[in-house]
Amino acid sequence: MKLAIYPGTFDPVTNGHLDILKRAASVFGTVYIAVAQNMHKNPLFTTEERIAMIQNCTSQYPNVKIDQFKGLAVEYARKVGASVIIRGLRAISDFDYEFQMALMNRHMNDNIDTVFFMPHEDYTYLSSSTVREIVRFGGNVSEFVPEIVKNELIRKLRSDE
Ligand code: ADP
Repeated sequence: MKLAIYPGTFDPVTNGHLDILKRAASVFGTVYIAVAQNMHKNPLFTTEERIAMIQNCTSQYPNVKIDQFKGLAVEYARKVGASVIIRGLRAISDFDYEFQMALMNRHMNDNIDTVFFMPHEDYTYLSSSTVREIVRFGGNVSEFVPEIVKNELIRKLRSDE
């Protein structure tokens, strides 16, 4: 049974991420969601907050585990014994960056393959940054993120209102 990691910033997790996770969890024996600490991206949520939200939304999957990592995803994959890195491809705009990263990762470790999943078309235009912007300006994100994530976004972004 293959072990795969699904690395990302998840700032915060969206229905698009969860759609990819659902597909990956039905293909691979175990999937580790690997939350990047990624301080250079200056995330809105702390690593602990991002993990707590993911935990809340993925408890129905017995073969999904949540972890965090610093540095290279390919190095993290090697350390936990994973042979696959999962990424989501929304649109052609994701392709260039993801292609570069997949080839660079393979260059660093040829035993680890990147596997891409395409989300349901409803989520192709969805990103964590868009969701943060909508909430910041008072919009409704109910159809894009789980209820608990929506509440956390409101708490974080509108607490000074
Ligand atoms: P990163 O900083 O690593 O890009 P993200 O949390 O933005 O972290 O994304 C993690 C992975 O999930 C990426 O492969 C990204 O393409 C994918 N992803 C993000 N949003 C969606 C979505 N709406 N549908 C499908 N895949 C997505």
